[in-house]
Amino acid sequence: MPTENSHAPLYRIRVALAVYVYDTFDYTVSAEQYKQAKVGARVLVSFGRQNLVGVITQKVDPNEVFTGQFKLKAITELLDDEPILDSQLLTLLTWSAQYYQFPIGEVMQSALPGLLRQGRALDILFHLWKITPHDDPDALLKRSQKQYDAYQVLKLHPQGTTENILNLSGVETATLKALEKKGLVECCLEPHDFTPTTVQLAQVPLTANADQKYAIQQILKAQHHYQTFLLDGLTGSGKTEVYLQVMFEVLQQGKQVLVLVPEIGLTPQTVARFKSRFHCDVALLHSGLNESKRLQAWQHAQTGKASIIIGTRSAIYTPLPELGLIILDEEHDLSYKQQEGFRYHARDVALYRGHLQGCPVILGSATPSTESYHLAELGKLHLLELNQRAGVAVLPKMHIIDLKIAKKKHGISQTLIEQIKQTLERKEQVLIFLNRRGYAPILMCESCAWQANCPHCDAHFTLHTQPYAYLHCHHCGTINRLPEHCPECKKQSLKTIGLGTAKLEEHLHELFPHNEVIRVDRDSTSRVGSWQKIYDRIQQNKPSILLGTQMLAKGHHFPHVTLVAILDIDSGLLSVDLRAPERTAQLIIQVAGRSGRGEHKGSVYLQTLRPDHPMLTTLIEKDYRAVAKQMLAERKIAMLPPYRYAALVRVDSKDRAYSQQYLAEIAQQLREMAADLIDIWGPIPAPMERKAGRYRAHMVILSADRARLHFYLRQWWQHVVHLPRQHQLRLSIDVDPQEFS
Ligand code: ADP
Ligand code: ZN
Ligand code: ZN
Repeated sequence: MPTENSHAPLYRIRVALAVYVYDTFDYTVSAEQYKQAKVGARVLVSFGRQNLVGVITQKVDPNEVFTGQFKLKAITELLDDEPILDSQLLTLLTWSAQYYQFPIGEVMQSALPGLLRQGRALDILFHLWKITPHDDPDALLKRSQKQYDAYQVLKLHPQGTTENILNLSGVETATLKALEKKGLVECCLEPHDFTPTTVQLAQVPLTANADQKYAIQQILKAQHHYQTFLLDGLTGSGKTEVYLQVMFEVLQQGKQVLVLVPEIGLTPQTVARFKSRFHCDVALLHSGLNESKRLQAWQHAQTGKASIIIGTRSAIYTPLPELGLIILDEEHDLSYKQQEGFRYHARDVALYRGHLQGCPVILGSATPSTESYHLAELGKLHLLELNQRAGVAVLPKMHIIDLKIAKKKHGISQTLIEQIKQTLERKEQVLIFLNRRGYAPILMCESCAWQANCPHCDAHFTLHTQPYAYLHCHHCGTINRLPEHCPECKKQSLKTIGLGTAKLEEHLHELFPHNEVIRVDRDSTSRVGSWQKIYDRIQQNKPSILLGTQMLAKGHHFPHVTLVAILDIDSGLLSVDLRAPERTAQLIIQVAGRSGRGEHKGSVYLQTLRPDHPMLTTLIEKDYRAVAKQMLAERKIAMLPPYRYAALVRVDSKDRAYSQQYLAEIAQQLREMAADLIDIWGPIPAPMERKAGRYRAHMVILSADRARLHFYLRQWWQHVVHLPRQHQLRLSIDVDPQEFS
């Protein structure tokens, strides 16, 4: 055995596997395999009793003496002839694993489409089925309906398409083979290397205004090296036009552009704006794709076939051989931070990727995060402002309604009802924002004060009425039947408190019986394609009321909306979360930004019990930038992020005392390692202590010295994850947390 003879060369490769272990694993290979193996390619190995797909991270020098105690296993099979992750991406992934304290194998796997994680061969998708020109296909198709149908599907793909896509369209492989025999279709190999094509305009760009022109010039000056920009532009100020004009210059050089958008922002409308401007291949990467479509889009990006890649958070890890520009739109959006498992922030990863690639990165928003403003203050982001609405539109005027004194009907103030009426009479559209789906957030008994609470969480059940009445916990997913009478006092005196979108929809129908009410929330858009249908209805330009949650608030361009009403933001004003005021201000501005985007002037009405809240008054009297400035000043005094770096450690277990005691113990160990460098807050119970039957606690670790914080965190965390635990305790660390809950 080579392991026992130190003179014979030992051929080994190092492999990252998706197992919850922080290290990579060594496997032996033959001399022949060693020659073939490429770093960044996949390999099949046995691990315990499983067969796993891993990524080769290193070819170990054969002369290096093996000192491990265990006998190494041989790999099962090399899966790729060429690397599927290039060296830059491997560097980015390794950095991410270290920065976010997550196992490298898991991080690498999260960069791969599902089918590649399963070991699927990469090149089969490059076989395309295509119609062969034929004089009289119908004569040959007469006798088989199946073949006829398949032929019609193929006609829809003049450039040819993959067997996967055809199978998904109901065409069986056997049918394709039969058609091939008849000489009606052929299966050909799509060329593997795509030479960069120069991109042409499909649409004339708008004439940029002065602010836009300046921004475009500044960014283009930096187009061949790493520079980062914060494009701070009011809602509707034409940020997208700036992106498009910068993109054109970059695309013309045969480079690729990566555009990241928030999860909800990836609407057909957004995609259409990018697609219709240029003649080029666009790859879309988002959570709604099935696995074969995802793999296809990923390959188009990875081979350079696609020039524009539009995707949500995880698209930041797509291999892009010709990357020339990264754009991250709505950079403040929370969906850029993964909130479970590998808790990375796509914005920070994007900045680092731009650095590795030596290309510019644009962060754009109407409501930039305090972190980005802080980086701009430090000169690390180049601030570019767009200070007017593009075209003819002007910013809407904001009004506050004091709910303590206002006359109301169904939770809507009389003033607002009057405004809605007038807007509809002018044949314009109204948008009402209520961030609470379902019928009502609380069900209680009027005679004994019993409340319907989730048995597993510290939370109320939400009452839903569609398609039938039931109680639903939005935190753990528990569903219960609606009781017919109070379970405590047995009286029939149950009533709902508070307003959800479904109940508001009923009230609006009653108040405005002659107008259409269009509700947009997770419940009304859960079926595939329903969002698109709703979108089309909105664009029909009837005088209607759009009613919805966050889904309706972000990024959309509804040119006929002139009145926006925000019904309830008080929970945001009262929340104890460090970032709650920032998020609430962002939400208000984003929702308000849906008003008056067309030719007609818009207005915004905001109902609140706290009209004198300092954040609100600054926002109304000044603007979002003033609010951000104020929040930064407060954070500086309190030495909170971004003025110090934070990590949040969360635990949950079945035992309340144990959760906190465990945290206290590991906190003590960290203090002993790095007492002078760090500050630990907690442990304290999480704001919702019990969730899904588990008791949650957390602590915040803060330090002004990022590099040393990370140095100690890493050592400490490696130690902590290997400690024994009881009561099924689960443990996680969140570096640069966005939510303290
Ligand atoms: P943002 O991305 O900042 O929200 P958009 O790019 O969506 O803004 O622009 C808002 C509207 O203004 C769009 O309808 C867009 O076509 C239009 N627009 C943008 N720039 C110009 C311009 N320079 N001249 C005329 N209209 C413009
Ligand atoms: Zn009762
Ligand atoms: Zn629950």
